[in-house]
Amino acid sequence: MLNGLNRVISVGVEPDKCLDWEMYGDENEPMRIGYGYDIHRLVEGRPLVLGGVVIPCEFGLDGHSDADCLTHALADAIFGALSLPDIGHWFPNTDPSIRGIDSRKILEKAVQEAVTRGWTVGNVDCVVVAEHPRIGPHLDAMRASLSATMGIRPDQVGVKATTNERVGDIGRGLAIAAHAICLLKSVCDV
Ligand code: MG
Repeated sequence: MLNGLNRVISVGVEPDKCLDWEMYGDENEPMRIGYGYDIHRLVEGRPLVLGGVVIPCEFGLDGHSDADCLTHALADAIFGALSLPDIGHWFPNTDPSIRGIDSRKILEKAVQEAVTRGWTVGNVDCVVVAEHPRIGPHLDAMRASLSATMGIRPDQVGVKATTNERVGDIGRGLAIAAHAICLLKSVCDV
């Protein structure tokens, strides 16, 4: 419990608030899991941003934000673990003030909502599905970027890449998709 208290204090949550399930989570529910998925079309004239890393490519992802589908999937995994609405609720694509927003701000918001409720990110795992360009050389940079954004260590972040075996729209290079899963740990239990 001493470690738990220290962790609570370190993330700025009042220790006695951990007893308030409605706001901060159930001390009998030490973990929660969440899943997120996103896909964006590839178009000309846009930078390709994945996990907060700009990847050299003749195409980029289209969207209201920087269209970073990996970071979006990860943020949605965290929101899902919290039983909160998805990123469209927090960052609607009808809001002109966030046009072109750096998606790392969206991920920061998701982590902030978790910490406010007494949860910390245990680990995350992600898969990018892209036929082109090759994602493998950029995986370590993505892990570093995402871990820095979430305030956790790189060894708490898994990022993998696969192609779609030329099947469907992703396989034809028309879009890139990402899947993400996260585990949240109660700060009252760590
Ligand atoms: Mg998206």
